[in-house]
Amino acid sequence: MNLHEYQGKEILSSYGVRVQRGIVAQNAHEAVAAAKQLTSETGTKWYVIKAQVHAGGRGKGGGVKLAKNIQEVETIAGQIIGMNLITPQTSAEGKKVHQVLIAEDVYYPGASEPNEFYMSVLLNRSTGRNMIMYSTEGGMDIETVAEETPHLIFNEEIDPTVGLLPFQARRIAFNLGLSGTAFKEMTKFVSALYTAYVKSDSSLFEINPVLKTSDDKIMAVDAKVTIDDNALYRHKDYVNLRDLREENPIEVEAKEVGLNYVDLDGNVGCMVNGAGLAMATMDLIKQAGGEPANFLDVGGTADAARVEAAFKIILQDPNVKAILINIFGGIVRCDRVAQGVIDAYKNMKSINVPIIVRLQGTNADIAKELIDNSGLDVLSATQFQEAADKVQKVLA
Ligand code: GDP
Ligand code: MN
Repeated sequence: MNLHEYQGKEILSSYGVRVQRGIVAQNAHEAVAAAKQLTSETGTKWYVIKAQVHAGGRGKGGGVKLAKNIQEVETIAGQIIGMNLITPQTSAEGKKVHQVLIAEDVYYPGASEPNEFYMSVLLNRSTGRNMIMYSTEGGMDIETVAEETPHLIFNEEIDPTVGLLPFQARRIAFNLGLSGTAFKEMTKFVSALYTAYVKSDSSLFEINPVLKTSDDKIMAVDAKVTIDDNALYRHKDYVNLRDLREENPIEVEAKEVGLNYVDLDGNVGCMVNGAGLAMATMDLIKQAGGEPANFLDVGGTADAARVEAAFKIILQDPNVKAILINIFGGIVRCDRVAQGVIDAYKNMKSINVPIIVRLQGTNADIAKELIDNSGLDVLSATQFQEAADKVQKVLA
């Protein structure tokens, strides 16, 4: 589950990580009140207005702007709320902005120059350990840093039995070129950040930039936080942080009816039981010259009601030109699935794309007969390759 910047910062802050302070606002009026409150609490004279959408690169798209007085807060917040923000991480249509974060200005002048770093916490899947990835090159696109100056990216791997050790936090502060107060602040920041990551059951923290202020404070100016969905049962208070407006509407609906569905860009809809078979089916479609329109695992019980729900989800995608149903009948019997497909098809009435059904396993032969004799525009197959050939034929 992805969070908004303001929500991520609240979680970080609750574990003692210093963050750039801010108050979220739904309209220009609330933005003004938020700015006044921030000034009374922090003394800030300037404000940063930040679009709250689930996409990075907001600065580049005009979604992060500096306001030097209350009047500008009102004007800028009014402009950003309701806009379609297009960033390098959104689709071409962009994302609608429903709310903004009014944040204190933390790039104020002082004894030293403010300095931006990059820091993320994530799982290194090849070692099975959490790691802190960090760089002196903050505030910019980390992919570009990785490509052009990979030697400026460092990793610190954490042994799960002992957690982050003090010498590791010091090594990070050292590699970032810090000394004195800023060095100590960074070691505190890193250890609080790692604690927050573990305790919140997150799967990704990306803080870009981590800022060293002109008076040597270390704080998170941005926060991309992803919570592991599988751990949400341990964090009941996080559940209502989900913002459905930010998620793909078809995926939200699929989740409501209990289907594992991921929207993709292609033209062949897939309905499969089992995640592994679903992946293999997507490969098959590619080999046949098509592109999968989705990943869809209907799970173990592919009865008529579930098949119909899956049809409804798949057909909401206007790019779908054919549907491949690939079911292995192990526990579920193929003839029951076939009957489910036929019933769902009749119920739906308005299916106007060809359907290829490949059923294999228990009672596959009876299933094929049922489909072939149903009189519907459904092509049956029992072999994988046969199904692929039929997909290719209907797409041609
Ligand atoms: P992103 O573009 O979506 O990654 O949004 P960020 O939260 O990282 O903000 C983008 C940029 O805005 C940062 O890299 C900073 O350069 C700038 N910025 C953020 N906060 C402040 C601030 O308090 N004062 C000033 N002057 N600039 C800021
Ligand atoms: Mn950022």
